[in-house]
Amino acid sequence: MKIIHIAAECYPAAKVGGLGDVLGALGKYLKLAGHDGGVVIPKHSSKYILSHTWEVVFDSKVQLGENSFEYHIYTNSKNELGFNLFLVDIKGLLNREQVYGYHDDSIRFISFQTATLDWIIKTNQFPDVIHVHDHHAALIPFMVKHCAYFKELKETPTILTIHNGQYQGAMDWSNNIVLPNWDSKQSGLLDWNNAFNPLACGVRCAWKVSTVSVGYLNELRYQSNGLESLFEAEWNKCIGILNGIDTQVWNPESDIAIVQCYNVSNFEKYKVKNKEILCSQFGLNPEWPLFVFIGRLVWEKAADIIPQSINAAFAALGRELNFLVLGSGDPNIENEFSKIKEGNEGCYNVYIGYNEELSHMIYAAADFILMPSRVEPCGLNQLYAMRYGTIPIVNNTGGLHDTVIDISEYDGYGIKMDTASENDIVVSISRAIDLYAQKETMTKIKKQIMQLDFSWDKSINNYINLYKSLTQ
Ligand code: ADP
Repeated sequence: MKIIHIAAECYPAAKVGGLGDVLGALGKYLKLAGHDGGVVIPKHSSKYILSHTWEVVFDSKVQLGENSFEYHIYTNSKNELGFNLFLVDIKGLLNREQVYGYHDDSIRFISFQTATLDWIIKTNQFPDVIHVHDHHAALIPFMVKHCAYFKELKETPTILTIHNGQYQGAMDWSNNIVLPNWDSKQSGLLDWNNAFNPLACGVRCAWKVSTVSVGYLNELRYQSNGLESLFEAEWNKCIGILNGIDTQVWNPESDIAIVQCYNVSNFEKYKVKNKEILCSQFGLNPEWPLFVFIGRLVWEKAADIIPQSINAAFAALGRELNFLVLGSGDPNIENEFSKIKEGNEGCYNVYIGYNEELSHMIYAAADFILMPSRVEPCGLNQLYAMRYGTIPIVNNTGGLHDTVIDISEYDGYGIKMDTASENDIVVSISRAIDLYAQKETMTKIKKQIMQLDFSWDKSINNYINLYKSLTQ
């Protein structure tokens, strides 16, 4: 089959969070399973894209409202990624350093989607399935059905995968929204609660809607940032498919970003070397348990309550424990994490920013990873952490609910809390400290989690079956 994925991010070319990882893995593992197509993203001015060679494969012009714009399609001529990655460039709109966060994001992503469809049609590269991801590409199912311009794609099955339903791309209708010539009788499909809402439109128009865990799918009917009744109405076409992890990129045995590689047979001897090195780099004590947090410093991750919870943990449990945080996001939350360095020297440190290499080293060095997320569609951090023998402490929500079993249960290997609250975080840390003192149980659990199979080899077949159900 030929499957075209359309999204805002794709690792390693451009990654902000899990969406990038998943797109990179889907491209690679579908190709390995013998399927064609590839991934299309905007040509961001990211470090990776600027430092690699790209070949122009198509240039054209397309009309959007009263304006026309030129676009260029690039690809990775050397095929270093093992799959086709296509980059859409629209000068002045897409070639920006950050993936998101600009005042004109809506017009940027509408132009990206328009150029992508225009290119597919003009080059006659009709795919068997168009698979779009999150709100940045969620207008495509509408566009192929209701924009005359793209009518040749009308019969092509479309799938929308929701990696995060909190972000919907919604905006006021007064923003002069421009779409390529569309059937105005269908304006109801674009509207949700009197606003223009790309994600809601995608849910209505896509042939199938998937999300990245069954647990999260079930939550969307009750908690989806205003779209609850929509998911209820469209429930029959929704499906949950758990993300996998790229076990080649995330492999402690061959990871070049960590100081000391290890595997399930020798981790007892070698994992700790990474901890010693990281602790010395950040002024922490390797004798004590090392708790880490990696991620976007935003409300969904409950990052706003972590600084106070760390202080509460020191007050309640003493100071023979270490915390290390890697993250960026809301400037107020970043500031709170920086502020608590004072007075907690020797047992707390933080790196504000995005650092892919450091994240690998932290997964390898830590004893416990903290994820008290309020919303977690799948969560990749806990899956990476477990592959590196780091025990997850998670809120019992979404994909965290589906992938972690509490140590109080049969064959359990993680610590689960019932609410994202300061109290539950401190109680969970206290349980982790007790566990840390039981050396044999720690070793058994680390061994167990390193061997859990969350690979794409398993998950990719669920997508392939979904594609087949739409094309046969
Ligand atoms: P989300 O997509 O909601 O941010 P996920 O758990 O699905 O959360 O994926 C997060 C991904 O982003 C992981 O690969 C994680 O290691 C990475 N990541 C998040 N923040 C940082 C950071 N500051 N530096 C390096 N990697 C990060």
